[in-house]
Amino acid sequence: MILILEPNVDRSTDRFQQLLKHLDSLDNVEYSLHDVQGHEQVLTEVYLLGDTARLSKEDMRNLPYVERAVRVQESYRILGRHGEEDRQEGFTYNGVTFNQDTLHVFAGLCAVDTPEHVEIMMQALQEHGEVCTRMGAYKPRTSPYSFQGHGADCLPWVFELAGKYGIKVIAMEVTHERNIDEINEALEATGHPTGVMLQIGTRNTQNFELLKHVGRQKTHPVLFKRGFGISLNESLNAAEYLASEGNPNVVFALRGMKSGGGDPHRNMVDFAHVPVVKRLTRMPVCIDPSHSVGSREGSPDGLSDVFHVTAQGVISGANLILVDFHPKPAKALVDGPQALRMNELAWFLEDVAIAREAYLKRRQAAEKALNKIKN
Ligand code: PEP
Ligand code: MN
Repeated sequence: MILILEPNVDRSTDRFQQLLKHLDSLDNVEYSLHDVQGHEQVLTEVYLLGDTARLSKEDMRNLPYVERAVRVQESYRILGRHGEEDRQEGFTYNGVTFNQDTLHVFAGLCAVDTPEHVEIMMQALQEHGEVCTRMGAYKPRTSPYSFQGHGADCLPWVFELAGKYGIKVIAMEVTHERNIDEINEALEATGHPTGVMLQIGTRNTQNFELLKHVGRQKTHPVLFKRGFGISLNESLNAAEYLASEGNPNVVFALRGMKSGGGDPHRNMVDFAHVPVVKRLTRMPVCIDPSHSVGSREGSPDGLSDVFHVTAQGVISGANLILVDFHPKPAKALVDGPQALRMNELAWFLEDVAIAREAYLKRRQAAEKALNKIKN
């Protein structure tokens, strides 16, 4: 069960102590307090764990400061929706708001290689009014002999360039807990010119110890990739590790599933699950067309498969697009064959805008039709 407290509760009051005293007195029930930073206010939620089935919602609602009591299902307690439409959803990080209604494009390099390429990318993003990007410094590679990423060495100049071009959020994969410290040290050393969304790659979806570490820090939000060979339910439960350790600011990313059925795409595109994840959880949903499709192949209509699947995700309500670009794909050290070219950026953004407009129109039509059906 979750107790949602009145906004901006003052924890120093006697009233708050009374609430805690009551919670302490509940047999076989443990609780933890979580602050949820909203746009204008802080909401405190109390998670009750253990023998909560016998607690009455009415009794709980009558406790000091409690505004609502929500009975939650066993799975994804914190990130789940539980039929409660009006619980706080999404988060704001470094001035950028992420929720199930917003849309942000994270175009960038799969792997950071040279300062020149990073600068070309970031400058192009700024010219197009974009404030988010992707930049891989730590690369989990299938082969130990492949380029593993520049690691901590490249962070200072990547962050400085981000600051120079107004980039507010960089999605960056972490493969080990020490990477978080390295990122924080580099941000500190460069004067926090940008922000970092910590990415959990598909190979680490069920690396529970890493998830616990990332979940325990609350500075950075998390871009969590779905596991490529496990069920959606298993991936959502894994995302819940982040929230249960204290960080509910999680974006859930679909990136295709490993299956021969997807051939010739690198993975079976799973963007039909965009609305499903939105229904089951309150997380913003990201699509990664690059790692799903895995190539720049196109169809006779002139649009590449990456463009097509991006539009398919956006028209279904995706909230984030993580997409590989590179100034010289042939020279990219990782995933060159799937990277879009810089001269495709304007066109890509235009195509996204077309799909987004169609999605918003679909929502309006749905609202109209549902009102008619109800009345
Ligand atoms: C990536 O985004 O660079 C990446 C490695 O993705 P995934 O974990 O989905 O394979
Ligand atoms: Mn990649």
